[in-house]
Amino acid sequence: MKYDLHIHTCLSPCADRAMTPATVAGMAKLSGAELIAVADHNSAANLPAAQAACTAYGLRLLPAIEACTAEEIHLLCYLPSVEAALELGEVFRRHLPPYPYDPAVWGEQWVMDEDDNILRREGRLLTGALELDIYQTAALCRSHGGIPVPAHVDKDSYSLLSVFGLWDDSLGFELAELADLSRAPALLQSGRLPGGLPLLTSSDAHALETMREEYPPLPACALERLL
Ligand SMILES: [Zn+2]
Ligand SMILES: [Zn+2]
Repeated sequence: MKYDLHIHTCLSPCADRAMTPATVAGMAKLSGAELIAVADHNSAANLPAAQAACTAYGLRLLPAIEACTAEEIHLLCYLPSVEAALELGEVFRRHLPPYPYDPAVWGEQWVMDEDDNILRREGRLLTGALELDIYQTAALCRSHGGIPVPAHVDKDSYSLLSVFGLWDDSLGFELAELADLSRAPALLQSGRLPGGLPLLTSSDAHALETMREEYPPLPACALERLL
């Protein structure tokens, strides 16, 4: 199954306005994806539109949220249904920092329908760190039936390895996402990533031009865990 399990929409303030759920689904389908995950920062609010658009295009959606934990670690939460994701998103919303949010500074946060209409604007800045540490965030993901996966662990910021410096086995992660799979051998050799862990790589696209033109097949062991 050709996949991209980390795509943002125009709900994420750092994403391009053209990344509407319908456009994301349409572009992914056109370039050959079979399975995508829409994963906005700390919110699931565009998943109903993404689900409707994916269904219309004959594309499978894995509902997701990219949580930003209190330690500023990005944690992908893959959920069994849009409903479960919306429930988890409501919990996260209660733990967002109460910063003042100015769309002119941070960017718009649009909740859309599947026909590219703006339903509402999210009023809380979604890119802040939740008042939940990574242990609490992972536990909440699991209690909603989800699989937590540390995002872009090879990156120098907002990643498990950049913040903790090492892999914490007690977190029980079954998968890891790398921005660049070619960095895996060095991370495995240094012991910062455990051997045998299935590794995913996705686009983390915030704009149409950074969406994939070709999609890798999802490793069978990841398919078993996620779907
Ligand atoms: Zn991230
Ligand atoms: Zn992301």
